[in-house]
Amino acid sequence: MAEKILVVEDEPRVVRLISEVLKAVGYQVVSADTGESAVEVFALEQPDLVLLDILLPHGPDGYEVCRRIREFSNVPVVMLTARARESEILQGFEVGADDYLTKPFSAKELVARVRAVLRRSERSEEGADSTLRCGELEIDFARRSARVRGEHVHLTRTEYALLRRLALHANRVVTHEDLLTMVWGPEYWDDVDYLRAYVRYLRRKLEADPSDPQYILTSQGVGYMLACPDEGRRQSA
Ligand code: CA
Repeated sequence: MAEKILVVEDEPRVVRLISEVLKAVGYQVVSADTGESAVEVFALEQPDLVLLDILLPHGPDGYEVCRRIREFSNVPVVMLTARARESEILQGFEVGADDYLTKPFSAKELVARVRAVLRRSERSEEGADSTLRCGELEIDFARRSARVRGEHVHLTRTEYALLRRLALHANRVVTHEDLLTMVWGPEYWDDVDYLRAYVRYLRRKLEADPSDPQYILTSQGVGYMLACPDEGRRQSA
């Protein structure tokens, strides 16, 4: 059955555009034009993904809707932001959003983002027996452990959480703010020195040459990316 997308947006023109694009590639689309109705439609329709506009004129805004959805569901939520303002993106992650899309976006970007987020959520639902293979690095999500070049690597809780967050977004740059918020908590969001230290620890454990990393790459001033040459295929253990 086609996956169902809930679009929460008050501008009919934008809803129509998004619907046309997503239906054209085979998704089912339902919509809600207020925050209030969004939660009702969500409960009724049980969508596989939510595209959620932050600015909703009446009642709860996108953040509040996301917070309410998160009280009972882990369905992926992609926030629609007017500008790529870091504060908005960060606030979205804080209330449990999985990703964001900056308006205006192209049809291609929209489809790519929806597919990527759905793929990620399918992977995380694979659950207990899945591993992520990334070149010679293998992350075992059930045992919360990693092996590199065939050797078991002992990771602390924080190191594992950081590696896991990077692995969930393999081959994409994850921002400092995202990593700090998701691994350490919202109050750490600007503690970049802390993050740098942990990246250093992880590199020491995972990289053949920590001064010339192959797995955890730096995006200067932006964040880090876990590079997976084979596209981060997840396999059953
Ligand atoms: Ca709006």
